[in-house]
Amino acid sequence: MYSLSELEAIVKRCNRCSLAKTRTNAVFGEGSEENKIMFIGEGPGYHEDKIGRPFVGKSGELFDKMIKAIDLTRENIYIANIIKCRPPNNRNPLEEESKQCIEFLRWQVKIVNPDIIVCLGAVAAKNIIEKDFKITKNRGIWYERGKFNIIATYHPAAILRDNSKKKEVWEDLKSIKKMYDKVMNDEKH
Ligand code: URA
Repeated sequence: MYSLSELEAIVKRCNRCSLAKTRTNAVFGEGSEENKIMFIGEGPGYHEDKIGRPFVGKSGELFDKMIKAIDLTRENIYIANIIKCRPPNNRNPLEEESKQCIEFLRWQVKIVNPDIIVCLGAVAAKNIIEKDFKITKNRGIWYERGKFNIIATYHPAAILRDNSKKKEVWEDLKSIKKMYDKVMNDEKH
């Protein structure tokens, strides 16, 4: 089993797909392996690619507000993406790229071993929950997969594009907080 830092070193020099040629930095993900909740986005955008950290642009600002609303900070969570390198012009990752890259995320999940996984947006949900996942229909539903409690909500970028999604996201966040409190409470006993 790799450690997170060993895996990060592998990802930083990965050239399994052509995104390696156009990236500035691979964006591995952040957080402690002690954390019980993992958020999964789609892939790095312009700012993430420049800096090498997940969710640091406009979506990231909103993401920080979202987790703050349920009393979480970056310190309490693990955050990563389906793909580690920015696709040119922020296009959706190709199936082949996700397929190559998701092995790294699987390792991250294995190492962090969270109780809760939150998929941010349709790309994450399709890769993690099921191929035909419909974000408008199936967000806010808990899926039990082994020890993992998995839920999807809208991606922050989708909320920025359409403010009317905020209400549903707030419902999802409340449900996530409830599950998180339960997990933390079970831990104590
Ligand atoms: N959008 C994502 O899905 N991930 C990031 O890291 C940044 C923006």
